[in-house]
Parts: sequence; C-alpha cells; structure tokens
Amino acid sequence: MELLKNKVAIVTGGTRGIGYAIVKMYLENGAKVAVWGSRQQTVDTALEKLHAENADWDVIGMCPSLTNYEEVAAAVAQVNQHFGRVDILVNNAGISARDPLYQYDPASFDNIMSLNVNAAFYATRAVAPLMKQQGGGVILNTSSMVSLYGQPAGVGYPTSKFAINGMTKSLARELGRDNIRVNAVAPGVTRTDMVAALPEEMVKRVSATIPLGRVGEPEEVASAFVFLASDMASYITGTVLNVDGANMT
Ligand code: NAD
Repeated sequence: MELLKNKVAIVTGGTRGIGYAIVKMYLENGAKVAVWGSRQQTVDTALEKLHAENADWDVIGMCPSLTNYEEVAAAVAQVNQHFGRVDILVNNAGISARDPLYQYDPASFDNIMSLNVNAAFYATRAVAPLMKQQGGGVILNTSSMVSLYGQPAGVGYPTSKFAINGMTKSLARELGRDNIRVNAVAPGVTRTDMVAALPEEMVKRVSATIPLGRVGEPEEVASAFVFLASDMASYITGTVLNVDGANMT
C-alpha cells in the first residue's frame, strides 16, 4: 500500500542516517521528495544511491544553508515550482555535542540552537503559507528521547530538542485551523553512522539498558514518519511520538 501516493515532501538532513531512511521510505510509499543536505556532493551521492534502488523514483536534491532564512525560502519556492506543491516538511537535520558545561564553548551552543531550532523554524515559516493556500499539509520535526529527560552533559542538544517539542505543540495549536498537522518523532539510540562507528562492546552495553534489548534501526524511526505524514494520522497533531524501545537513560 502506498501511504503517501503523489504527496510532495521536503526532508532536511536527508542524505544519510535517519533522514535518508525517511526519504527512501517516502519514495517507496509513492511520495515525490526533495532531499536537502549540507553539501552538493553528499546530496549527489544520496541521489545516485536512490536512483540505483529505483530509477523511477521522483526525487531531487538541493543544499540551501538551513540557517539562512532567505536561502531556505528560495529553496522551498524552487521545490514548489518543480513539483507544483509541498505537502510534507520534515525538519530532520540536526547536530549534537556532549561537552560538559564548564568547558562549553558558547559558540557551540549557538551552533546547535541555530541548526536544531532556528533552521526548523525557518523551513516551517517558509512552507506553512504554501500549505495553508493548498488547503493543508504536515510538518514533522525530529526530536529525541533526551527531550524527555535531558542528558548529563552537552546541555545544548537536549535544550534544542525541548524547544522542538515546544514548537511542535504550539504550532499544532496555531495551524490546526489551516488543516496543517504538526508532530514530532523522538528517536532513542538509532543505528546511524555515528552508532555504527562505536565499538560493538559499547553498543552491547547501551543495548542492555534498553527494555527492548537493542538499539533502533533508522527504518524503525522512518516508519513513524511515514505514519504521521499519512492520512492514517489525520486526527493526530501536537504529538511527540517516542520511538526508543522505552529507553529511559
Ligand atoms: P546524521 O549525523 O547521520 O545525519 C544528520 C543529517 O543532518 C545529515 O544528513 C547532515 O547532512 C544534516 N546536517 C548536519 N549539519 C547540517 C547543516 N549545517 N546544514 C544542513 N544539514 C546538516 O544524524 P542522524 O542520527 O540521522 O540524526 C538525524 C536527526 O535525528 C537529528 O535531528 C538528530 O538529532 C536526531 N536523533 C538522532 C538519534 C540517533 O541516535 N541517531 C537519536 C535521537 C535523535
């Protein structure tokens, strides 16, 4: 069943990890996708990989600077011009750092907030008027399990994800009347490149603290993004959906 047939989606940070899994699953479900990455080279590599999977998939790539509102707005306009509409925005690009407070460089805090929060606002700000004009749409944000409990070092990252939850819930209330649903997915430890690079022993130790006994796969997170973007979730807005194996660490 194609849950997103002919829907047009923008996925930021779509070149690898969770974002790439979302892009692929959206295409498998009949969507047309604009992959946004940080560099043209990584965007091209992702497009090559996707076309090798299925040459018929309707996917384009771009790399606007997400922390520059004008560039983001221009890229949204370009996607709209290319596909004729924008139904789904996935604000997924994100960075993290684990510096203790006493060594925390304020510039690093600004960087995290700038990409994880401001960029999500910029893309949302640019896309929402289009969605309103079209009669509705879906905005999805990638939060994190640390938005529930914080984390013991690297305060910028959980702060940014608490902010994302706040943006999600507030905009759900503001945009509901325009038939724009706004939700977030909060992944737990997920096997992206970063986790795959860890020693297997460490992954085992982390897995032992997770009730489901293992880390999550990017596809398991992506399927939550498919569900929330689809009409099956037509009455769900303002929700932060945990996909974390009930991890509480
Ligand atoms: P990743 O590092 O594998 O991918 C991050 C993506 O963001 C990449 O596509 C990258 O191009 C993009 N990106 C990074 N900096 C950028 C910039 N300045 N401009 C534009 N794009 C930029 O990460 P991931 O693990 O797939 O994470 C994706 C999202 O999931 C992030 O928001 C992250 O906070 C969240 N998350 C990840 C995990 C996990 O365990 N992997 C857990 C919880 C939440």
